[in-house]
Amino acid sequence: MIRRLGLISTLALATALGGCAAMPGLGSRSDTAAVSAAALAPVDYVRDIHSFARPEIARVRHVALDLTADFATKTLSGTAALDITAEPGADEIVLDVRNLDIQDVRDAAGAPLQYETGSVDPILGQPLTVRFPAFAPGEQRRIVIRYATRPDAAALQWLTPAQTAGGRQPYMFSQGQAVLTRTWVPTQDSPGIRQTWDARIVAPSDLKVVMSAEGLTASGEPAGPGMTAWRFRMTNPVPPYLIAIAVGDVAFAAIDERTGVWSEPSMLAGARAELVSTAQMVDVAERLYGPYRWGRYDILVLPPSFPFGGMENPRLTFATPTIIAGDQSLVSLVAHELAHSWSGNLVTNATWADFWLNEGFTVYFENRIMEALYGQERALMLQSLGWGDLQSTLADLPPADTRLKLDLTGRDPDDGLTDVAYEKGAAFLRTIERTVGRERFDVWLKGYFERNAFRPMTTELFLEDIRTDLVAGDAALESQLMMDAWIYQPGMPSNWQPPVSNAFVPVDAAARGFFADKRPASTIPWAGWSTQERQRFLAWRPEGRTGTADWLTDAQLADLEATLNLRQEGNAELVFAWLQIAVQHRFQPAVPTLEHFLTTMGRRKFVLPLFTSLWAEGDWGRSIATPLYARARPGYHPVTTGSVDAVVGRP
Ligand SMILES: [Zn+2]
Repeated sequence: MIRRLGLISTLALATALGGCAAMPGLGSRSDTAAVSAAALAPVDYVRDIHSFARPEIARVRHVALDLTADFATKTLSGTAALDITAEPGADEIVLDVRNLDIQDVRDAAGAPLQYETGSVDPILGQPLTVRFPAFAPGEQRRIVIRYATRPDAAALQWLTPAQTAGGRQPYMFSQGQAVLTRTWVPTQDSPGIRQTWDARIVAPSDLKVVMSAEGLTASGEPAGPGMTAWRFRMTNPVPPYLIAIAVGDVAFAAIDERTGVWSEPSMLAGARAELVSTAQMVDVAERLYGPYRWGRYDILVLPPSFPFGGMENPRLTFATPTIIAGDQSLVSLVAHELAHSWSGNLVTNATWADFWLNEGFTVYFENRIMEALYGQERALMLQSLGWGDLQSTLADLPPADTRLKLDLTGRDPDDGLTDVAYEKGAAFLRTIERTVGRERFDVWLKGYFERNAFRPMTTELFLEDIRTDLVAGDAALESQLMMDAWIYQPGMPSNWQPPVSNAFVPVDAAARGFFADKRPASTIPWAGWSTQERQRFLAWRPEGRTGTADWLTDAQLADLEATLNLRQEGNAELVFAWLQIAVQHRFQPAVPTLEHFLTTMGRRKFVLPLFTSLWAEGDWGRSIATPLYARARPGYHPVTTGSVDAVVGRP
C-alpha cells in the first residue's frame, strides 16, 4: 500500500517545531486546489533552524559548479549556477553562505541581479538574498553566482605535500556535514532541501579530482597550461552536505565491478587489501534492505588529518586511514558508511535535531551487515562496545541531550553529534526488533527505505510511518514499544535490554584479574583475542570510579605497556584506549607514544578526548597539551581544531 506523507504531516511538523510563521510553504498557499494537489505530493522540504533558506518561497533544485582549485592561494573560484523554482510572484531567493567572497550574481542571460548578504552568525554564516523579477506559475530559472572561497573555508582542508602520505603533492578535501557546505557552495544548505548537482573542476594536471558523484571524464580534459578539467554529475537529489570533493595525487584499485578504493598511490595496495570485504558488504546490504541506488560504491582513504572515521558521501565514502589496521578488524566502519547509502543518503534527517534518524538507523544496519558477514558473536561484541560507550555518554551529558529528538535552538548542530544519536538510536531500533520479531521488523524497515527514498525525514514523520505500517493500531504493541519515551525522554526507557556478549565474560574476568586483583599482565591472554576483545579489556574501569583518582600503579602500567607491546601497537582504536588509561594516570613513559599518535592523525574521535583528558590532569597534562597542540594543530582539519580549541585554547 502506498501512503504518502503530505500536507497534514508537514503542518503537524510546523507545530512540532515551534511553528515558524513561514513553515513549509505548502500550507501557506491560499489556492484551495493547489493545497489539495500539494496534499498528495511528497514532503519536499522542511524548514530548518540551521539554514537561512525560505524554500516555501523559492527553492534550489540543481547546482552546477564550475570551479578552479588554486593550491597557491588555497581557494576554489568560479561560478555556481542554481536552477530554482518559486511560488508565483516570488521575487527573491535566500541562500546560505559563510565566509565566501561573492563577486556578482547574474541571470541566465548574463544580466546582473541585485543581491545582499545579511549579518554574520558564527555558526550559520550569512543569508545571501538574490532579487529578480517576479516568478510566473510553473517557471524555473537559473541564477549564476561568481565567487571564491577563502583559504580558511571551514569545509575545505588544504594540505601541504608534507601532510600527505606521498609527500610530493598537495591535497585538498571537503567535509560538508553538518553546515559547512555553505563555506564552499552558495546554496540552500539544509538537509531537507535536496538538490541534484553537477560540476566541472579545474585542477593542476598532476593531480586528480574525485567527487561524490558519477565521474564523466576518466582521465580529465585539457584546460589550459598545466591544468586539467574533471566533470561529474549527481542525478539523484541529495542534501547539500553530501556534495564532496577531493583533489590530490590519488589512484584507484578495483575490488569488484562496482566497488573499489581510491587513495594516495603509496597506500593503495594496503588499503585495498584491508577493504576487500566491501564488495560482499554491498551484496549483504542489498539482501537486507533493498537495492543499492547509487551505482558505484567506492571508498576514498584520505590523508591522516581527515577529522572523521568516515563520511558517507554518495558513491564515494571518505574514510580515515586509521581504519587500516592490517587485519580488517576495523571494517565495521565501512559497513557503517555503506549503510548510510540507505539511512542518511536515501532517507535523510530533515533537520539536525533529527540526526538520530541518520545515525541510529545506520548503527543498527551496520551491525546487521557485520552479523551477516562475520557472525552473531562479533555483532554482539560490537553492540556491547557501543553500549559501553553510550553508558559513559549518558553519564556525562545533561539529561536533555540524551533524548533522541534534540533541541538545538541557538546551538551548533555538531552538539548533536554524540553517542546518543548513534547508540541510543540503534538501541531503540533493536528494542523494536526484539518486540515485534526480526522478520516483521525487516519488512517494515525495507518498506520505510522504499516509501521515503530521496526524501527528508523528521522524527514525527518516522513515528507516523511506523505507527501506520508496523504498529497498525495494535494498542498493546504501542504501549510495549514505548516509542515516545525513547524519543522524547532522557536516558534509557524501561524496556531496554542491554546486549550480552558471552565472548566478553572471560575478557572481563581477565580485566578484573589484572586491574583489580593486581595479577601480572602475563596472565592476560592478549594474543588470542580479537580487536573487539582487546578493546573491551582496555575499556575496563573500576565500578563507581570517579574523577581522576588513580587505580593503577606505575609498575602495573609499565607491565601492561611492555607485556602487550603497546608502544608498537598499530591499531588506532587500541592505541587510543591505552593512551586514555596512560594519561589518566599521568604515566610519563607513554608520552612519546601520545605525541606520535596526536601528531600523525587528526581524527576528532581520538584527538578531542585525549586533549580533554590531558587538560583534566592539571599542570602535568597541560604542560604536555599546550606545546603538543601548537605542534599538531596545523595538521588538523578545522572540524577537529574547532573542538580542541574550546578545550586547550587556540595556540
Ligand atoms: Zn554515520
